[in-house]
This record gives sequence, C-alpha cells and structure tokens, in this order.
Amino acid sequence: MSETNGRGVSLHTKILIALLAGAAAGVTVNFLTPKPTPAWLDHLITYVMRPLGDIFLRMLFLVVIPLVFASLALGVAQLGRMGNLGRIGAKTFAFFLITMSIAVVIGLGLVNAVEPGVGLPRDTQDFLQKEFGKDAAKKTDKTTTFGVETFVNIVPRNPLAALVNMDMLAVIFFALLIGIGLTRISAERAQPIIATLEGINDLMIVIIGWAMKLAPLGVFALIFSVTARFGFDLLIPLGYYVAVVLIGIAIQMFGVLSILLATLARTNPLEFFQKVRNVIITAFSTSSSSATLPTSIKTAEEELDIPPSIAGFVLPLGATMNMNGTALFEGVTVMFLAQVFGVELSLGDQLIVVVLSVLTAIGAAGVPGGSLPLLAMVLTTVNVPGEGIALILGVDRLLDMCRTTLNVIGDLAAAMFVARSERGGPEVTEPGPREADGAAYGAGGADGA
Ligand code: ASP
Repeated sequence: MSETNGRGVSLHTKILIALLAGAAAGVTVNFLTPKPTPAWLDHLITYVMRPLGDIFLRMLFLVVIPLVFASLALGVAQLGRMGNLGRIGAKTFAFFLITMSIAVVIGLGLVNAVEPGVGLPRDTQDFLQKEFGKDAAKKTDKTTTFGVETFVNIVPRNPLAALVNMDMLAVIFFALLIGIGLTRISAERAQPIIATLEGINDLMIVIIGWAMKLAPLGVFALIFSVTARFGFDLLIPLGYYVAVVLIGIAIQMFGVLSILLATLARTNPLEFFQKVRNVIITAFSTSSSSATLPTSIKTAEEELDIPPSIAGFVLPLGATMNMNGTALFEGVTVMFLAQVFGVELSLGDQLIVVVLSVLTAIGAAGVPGGSLPLLAMVLTTVNVPGEGIALILGVDRLLDMCRTTLNVIGDLAAAMFVARSERGGPEVTEPGPREADGAAYGAGGADGA
C-alpha cells in the first residue's frame, strides 16, 4: 500500500487498529456499564465520539457531489469520444443487474432454508417493537414512495437543486448528459470544460487524502459509539437472522464475486481482496457507499490499475445503483419479517420480492440506513407490516456495515470486469495515470469502436 507515514506505518494498518480498538473499547464499556446507558457514557458518545465520527464522515461527504459529477461526466466524455460508451454502459448495467439478482436469490434461498423468524420468542418481539417502534416510524416517515415518480424524478427539473439536495440519481443523469454532450460539441469548446472537470476531480482526490488522515480517529469514534450503546445484547435474539444475512453476504462476496472475478475478469480474487483492504475498511466503518466512493476510485486507479475513464464511469454509478449487499439484505429481511408475522409468501410473492429488492437497492441512497425507507415500501407491498422494521433496527448498523462492504466490493468487481474486458487480456501492466487517460485507454480497447 502506498500510503505510509514517515515511520512506515501504513494508513490502512492504522485504520484497522482503530477499528479493532474502537470495537473492543465499545464492547468492554457496554459490558461493564449498567443498563440503561449511564449519563456519562451518553455524554461521551453524544458530545465526543459521535461528533468526531461525524466530522470524518462529513469530510468524505463533502467531496461526493463534485466528485461524482466531475468523474462521471469525464468518464462518459472520454468513453464517448472513444465510441464505446454504449458497449461499456451495457456491460456495466448487465453486471449490476445480474449480480444483484444473484444476491437476492442467495438471500432468499438461505432465509427459506434456515427460517430464522419462525421461532422468535413473543416477548423478545414485543420488547423490540416497543424499544424501536418510534425510531422506525421516524426513519420510515420520509419514505419516498416507490413508483412511476421514482423514475420521473431521475430527470431533474433543476440540476443545481439536484446537486444541492444530493439527489444522486438526478445528479448522475445530469452528469451523463453533460458527458455525452461534451462529445457532441467541437473539441475546441469541449476542452476547457474537460480541463476544468479534470481539475475538480484532482482537487477532490487531494481533499480525500486529507480526510483519510482523520480516518483512524473517525473510525475509532464511529465504532465505539455503536458498540458502546448496543454491545452484543440485541444481536442475540436476532442471531439467526443476522447470521443468514452475513452468510449470504459472505457467499456473494467470496463465492459469486470471486468466481466472476476469476472467470470474467481473469483476476486472482485473493490478490483483488488484498488490494482493496482500505476500501473494505472504509465501507465497513462508514456504512456508506457514497462516503466510500472517493477511496474506491483511488484504489481502483492506483491499486487495481483500472483506467480512470472506466473507474470514473463505473464506480460513481455503482455507488448509487449497484448494491449487492442491500438487495440481499432486503430480500432476507422481508422474508424474515414475513416469518415473524406469520405471513405466507408464495413463490410468486417471492419473485416480486426479488424484483422489488433489486429495484429498491438501485434506488437506495448510499448513506447509512439508506435502504430502510425503501425496505418499508417493499414490506407493505407484500403485506408484511412495515413497522416490522422496528425488529431489525437494533442490529441494522452491523448489517449496514457488512452490506455496504459488499455493495462497494460489487462496484469494484464490476469496474474490474469492465476494465479487463475492454483491454481484452489478463495482463494489465500499464498504470492508470489520470494524465494518460482518454487516448491511452482508447487505444487499449480490445475491439475499438
Ligand atoms: N448503507 C448502504 C450503502 O451506503 C445503503 C443501505 O443499504 O442502507 O451502501
């Protein structure tokens, strides 16, 4: 790993130590303190740990809009100039949809086999309902109804408003238009805009470097806040459900994606996972695909040698649309809650769950808990009480950390697949410097236009 400090301790080692130390400290404090959470611990979390964690998160979030916009528009412009945008776009979307569908099917298979919701004790269920009922109502209150509007809203009425409101799908749409448009005007006119976008892109990468310096502290604070409050108490009654989600995530990540990497992308999965350690840690500790995007772009270009034009196209799209972990989580959760509430879901119903899980995973925002409002929508669609979400809220943070990790690994796998298929060979020796961008990678395309 390239990022080391003067004494040779790499950043990822520091982040990993912070992650483990934060978790150990949080669990220990949770174990040693009486329930409910004493005031001093509440204050420590509210006034020290959460703010530290939030500042780190905000440092990452503040680059997201300019970065997504600039890298996507640039990626599209570069691919468009090479005449292969359509092919790359089609490959990217096909990879997204197929892997997300496989993820949900794995989740449903597991949850049907294990049936974690069938034996849940009544009093545990009541306790959790009471404990998290209000919270669930709050989180799902702002539920954006999913329907034809969701698609209409992808086209922003006012692109600046979309940027300001972090309306990711609309921002993506606008960036795609700008990128395609840049290929349709004269090179002379397009050049200054492209140079500006490149400048913005590079600037954001510099700021990310600064944000990552805060990562060890931020990660410690974030993990401590979660574990000190909840410890492992709530994991026990929902243990089987959690296990099903986690096993599903592991199968998708280390099984399905590894096989796809090895076969379609001709990449050694072990090496791949080794190189993306920083991304895994960032996704796991931030629970946010968007916040992880800067790190994944950097890693894709510097560690995986993915051309910036492909990384800049696939990864921002993936951070918002490609959520393997979220789709799997949604499928398992809908079935689990259906089991808890005794709702029979036929094969046809489960097919609807598959489709809706994939669609809502595409629509979910890449932020912590981003899928919860949409999950409530899927639940009600198949007649499972939406408040059922209260049952899983207590463990959601842990699941969110894990599903976000899979979400982001899925994006990198997609980028790797697209990059390798475009270059047409397993040997990737040329580095991915931003300056060399368009022309170099255009020439490297296997089948040209
Ligand atoms: N936290 C997830 C992500 O950012 C979204 C979700 O499933 O809630 O990828």
